[in-house]
Amino acid sequence: MPTELTQAIVTGYTDYKDNDRMLTLFSASRGRIDCKARNCRKPTSRLLACAQPFVFGEFELFENGERITVNACDVRETFYPLREDVDRFMIASLCTSLCNNIIERESPDEALFSLLYHVLSFLAYSESDPTDLLIAFLLHYLDHAGYRPSLTRCAVCRRDVRSDAVLFFNAEAGGVVCAACPHGGKPVSKLALEAMRRILLLDHDALNKVVLKPVLREEMLPLLKNACANMLGASDRTVAMLDRI
Ligand SMILES: [Zn+2]
Repeated sequence: MPTELTQAIVTGYTDYKDNDRMLTLFSASRGRIDCKARNCRKPTSRLLACAQPFVFGEFELFENGERITVNACDVRETFYPLREDVDRFMIASLCTSLCNNIIERESPDEALFSLLYHVLSFLAYSESDPTDLLIAFLLHYLDHAGYRPSLTRCAVCRRDVRSDAVLFFNAEAGGVVCAACPHGGKPVSKLALEAMRRILLLDHDALNKVVLKPVLREEMLPLLKNACANMLGASDRTVAMLDRI
C-alpha cells in the first residue's frame, strides 16, 4: 500500500472515538486532504504534537483507496504563540476555516497556501496588529477566490471614481459604487480604498508591513467581513466566526 510525504498545515479537526481525530490538511501540492490520526489524543502518541490546529509539517500518509491515515509527521512549525492569545487564535482559526471553504481535493493551491502560511507566521511571531493582518488576509483571500472588490471603478457603471468625493461600498454590487448609481451600501472613504489597493499590491511575505490607523481599521473590517459573507452565503458556518470578530 502506498505511503506519501506531503507538506501541509492542519486547518481543521474533529474528534471521534476515545483517542482518534479526523484531520483536515491543506497541502500546497494536493489541496485538501481529510485523514485519520489514530490514537493521536493519547499522551504517549507520536502523533500528539502534529494533530493540532495550525501545525505545519511533513506528513507521511498511508492511502488505502478513499481512506487516508497519518503514519507519522515531521513537525516543522507549531505557531505555538497563537495558543496564548485569544484574539490571535480566533483570527488564525477564521483564516484556516476560510481556506477550508475553497480548497479542494487533489487541487494544488500554492498561492493560497503561501498566504495562509505567512499570515499564521505573522500572527504568531510578529508585533503586527492582528486585525491589520486579518484585513490583509481577507483582501488577498477575496482576490484569490475571484471576488476581488472593485476599488478604482464603480462596480455598476464602471466609471473611474478615484476623483469622486462621495463613494459607497456595496459587496453585493462588487465593490465601490459611485453616488450616481443605485448604491445601497455604506459610505467608504478614499483613504480606505487607497489602503485596500496598496495591500493588494503587497507580496504575502510583506503583509506584516500593513499598519492601519484605528479609524481606518474600523472602517475597513466590516466592509471586508461583509464581502466575505456575501461570497460564502449567509448560512455558512464560517460567517458566524466572522461575526464574532
Ligand atoms: Zn456608477
